[in-house]
Amino acid sequence: MGELANCERCNRVFVKQLRDICRDCYKKEEEDFRTVYHFLRKRNNRTATMAQIVEETCVEESLIQKFVRERRLQPADFPNLSYPCERCQQPINQGTICEHCQQQLKEDLLKHEAVESAHQKVLDAERERTYYTKGHWNKS
Ligand SMILES: [Zn+2]
Ligand SMILES: [Zn+2]
Repeated sequence: MGELANCERCNRVFVKQLRDICRDCYKKEEEDFRTVYHFLRKRNNRTATMAQIVEETCVEESLIQKFVRERRLQPADFPNLSYPCERCQQPINQGTICEHCQQQLKEDLLKHEAVESAHQKVLDAERERTYYTKGHWNKS
């Protein structure tokens, strides 16, 4: 049994099963997909840019981007298909963020780990000092 939800596209209430959109919108999306796919299948259109595809097929850019993100349209086959990186909006054609952002995230993580371990060292040192101070306070 599905639950009731609002369709992400038309906002109509529908019984949610596998998708976030209602049956009508799903049908429409499938049609749009076929249109885009059909267009891109033509040899001359393989290198079409997003703008050209939108113009030729009248399918919304966001929908085409969704197809690419869902890998229904393979970027390997259509090198000019791209969608924005979720962090910096640079055009990418795989994953959710661009290589530059991936690199940055990795560096941030390393930095974060370095900070954490430095912090831990300070804590350890403090604990030792406290211990030392307590144990040897009267000697000096
Ligand atoms: Zn709908
Ligand atoms: Zn990016």
